[in-house]
Amino acid sequence: MKVLVTGGAGFIGSHLVGRVIDDGHNVTVIDNCSTGSEANLEHVRDNKRLTFLQGSVLDALLVENAMQDVELVYHLAAAVGVHYVVDDPLWTIVTNTRGTENVLRAANAVGARVVFASTSEIYGASEDLPFKEDGERVLGPTWIPRWSYSTSKAVDEHLCFAFAQRGLEVSILRYFNIFGPRMDPEGYGSVIARFLTQALTGSDLTVHGDGEQTRCFTYVTEAVEATVLAGTLPQAIGQVYNIGSNNETSINDLASTVIALTGAEVSTRHVPYEEAFGTGFYDTRRRVPDVSKAARELEWHASIDLTTGLRRILETWQVQR
Ligand code: UDP
Repeated sequence: MKVLVTGGAGFIGSHLVGRVIDDGHNVTVIDNCSTGSEANLEHVRDNKRLTFLQGSVLDALLVENAMQDVELVYHLAAAVGVHYVVDDPLWTIVTNTRGTENVLRAANAVGARVVFASTSEIYGASEDLPFKEDGERVLGPTWIPRWSYSTSKAVDEHLCFAFAQRGLEVSILRYFNIFGPRMDPEGYGSVIARFLTQALTGSDLTVHGDGEQTRCFTYVTEAVEATVLAGTLPQAIGQVYNIGSNNETSINDLASTVIALTGAEVSTRHVPYEEAFGTGFYDTRRRVPDVSKAARELEWHASIDLTTGLRRILETWQVQR
């Protein structure tokens, strides 16, 4: 099968590309290397089943050409990272909505099936926990830049359903805080990459706010497994799935775990949100998925715990050093 992975040089995308190649398929990657990089594809660089196209999903012609003979599309290319989104909401909105429209339109034209990588940010400030796929979305005012990310991804989900009405076979995955090797060590916002980098360089860990906000960190290969299932199983067509771990961890606990695992002689430094992001920033207090739908329909659940996942990242980072 010929498979297209947009955002295939990104953190999650690169793991997915490896997996799809291992499964015996030919893979074309489109990536503009904004937050991804070709180095992420080092493990498959010489594989003749891989074609790498450096370019943007905003380039409709490039997308159309890459789509020839493609049967399955994993659309992961997007503007990601809280800091980037807050710094440049225009880039976020345009990349995510126009880019996705280009990909869905081209896929529909050739009859390819699509898996769209969405996000737990969809639920916004909802306190209806755990988040269910059919739960309400609660968003703040439009002048808070963070909501542009949630909104752009929600428009993308609407586009998926709009194209489905025109025959597109599409599945939507809402990823919850994916982590693992090949996360950008500089950390485009991701707290795990930032904490590990801070610990390894002897800096205090910057905990935003009181640190009691929680996330369910989900190991990347397990998210990839769910993604492949969503692109393969017939019952996934037309469906939305939360893809996340059940383990709710506070940022304070994450910081303690990172310090213990690295043995770093650092402590935590609590940073007010205004200092980290300027005024008007909203942080999700608790983010927990209900994953019963993915368990039931895809027979998928996450089992790799935070400590195991962190150890694996540290192993790969130590090899690179
Ligand atoms: N965070 C933190 N220190 C950092 C970076 C992030 O305390 O240096 C917090 C952030 O405010 C949020 C959580 O960690 O409460 C997760 O942040 P991340 O950007 O990884 O993902 P999010 O779930 O917010 O999209």
